[in-house]
Amino acid sequence: MAIAIDIQSVTRAYGPIKALDGIDLAIKAGEFFTLLGSSGCGKSTLLKLIGGFDRPTKGRILFEGRDVIDVPANKRPVNTVFQNLALFPHMTVAENIGYGLKLRGLSGAALKAKVEDALDLVELPGFGPRGIAMMSGGQRQRVALARALVMEPGILLLDEPLTGLDERLRQQMRDEFGRLHRRTGATFILVTHNQDEALSLSDRMAIMHQGRIEQLDVPAQFFARPANSFVAGFVGIDTLLKPERIEQHSDGLRAVIGGQSLRLRSPMGSLGDDSLVAIRPDRLRISESLDGADLVLTVVGTTFRGLQTDVHLAFADGQSLVAVVSSDSPSATLAHGARVPLSLLPDAAMLLSGLGMPPAA
Ligand code: ADP
Ligand code: MG
Repeated sequence: MAIAIDIQSVTRAYGPIKALDGIDLAIKAGEFFTLLGSSGCGKSTLLKLIGGFDRPTKGRILFEGRDVIDVPANKRPVNTVFQNLALFPHMTVAENIGYGLKLRGLSGAALKAKVEDALDLVELPGFGPRGIAMMSGGQRQRVALARALVMEPGILLLDEPLTGLDERLRQQMRDEFGRLHRRTGATFILVTHNQDEALSLSDRMAIMHQGRIEQLDVPAQFFARPANSFVAGFVGIDTLLKPERIEQHSDGLRAVIGGQSLRLRSPMGSLGDDSLVAIRPDRLRISESLDGADLVLTVVGTTFRGLQTDVHLAFADGQSLVAVVSSDSPSATLAHGARVPLSLLPDAAMLLSGLGMPPAA
């Protein structure tokens, strides 16, 4: 049965370092939830608290409304696939998968049947008698998954489970996580620093930074409504421009950058003097003529990226942005110094808090 998780004001301090700093997070039963963030932001620390391998310095953790802080790891309805897999190298595949069930007292035909079901689930039928050492990296990954799933956990924790696999295997295993999530109905929590994994699998995700959650949302919202400039940069909206000033016009806010004025989407909440203008590269178009252009910028370089080419364009004050064009379009070969008219699609420019932290509550 899937389980809902409530994390309330959780802090985990190691001396003066707060690995987690006041985390509030409610994960729904049966959800595929992802913690996304770069190395050291506190993802594994949070996963360990959920798994019961560690205790918070402050705060509460509830499963289905019941406080589990004093419940040891082996008594929680949780299984974890660790990054290093932690398989027993001297055991067979079947012994590894059946280990936890055996501890629970299962044996004989019942144990064998469960292990075989789990092997089918991860598409390794017949591999039971093999030694772990005889399995490839991707196969071991599947064994680790089967070992966790065979326990029929209400919560499955996956800590960077695809790190170290080659690209083809990553994609294959990623699809497998989605399939297993649908089949088991358990609450899945994935920890990763890989944005593609997070976006393709998650019902919702949280972007973490320095022990805090910067934004918690469905994947599309991180692009449509990034909470601040840290989140925007993290998801690849990396053009962040410092405006000379912000002006209130009858049709809304405008930013002045390098002497030119840009329409802004209205910001969510109040913003300080450190606000930055984020530009979505997918909402910029290089236009045919200078008439009616929203901006006129100067080409300072192009970067060929296969099907697409980045055109780097500068304002008069030296700040620059990137327009992405098809590599076979004439714009891909624009000369350095050319003056280029641009049109901005609705919501191309957003005013965001310049802080890496969310606005104080
Ligand atoms: P992530 O999994 O996001 O890479 P971690 O949760 O492992 O990050 O670590 C978060 C922060 O807490 C890091 O600064 C890390 O150095 C620190 N940390 C984690 N575990 C310990 C520990 N046992 N002792 C001291 N500091 C720790
Ligand atoms: Mg980690």
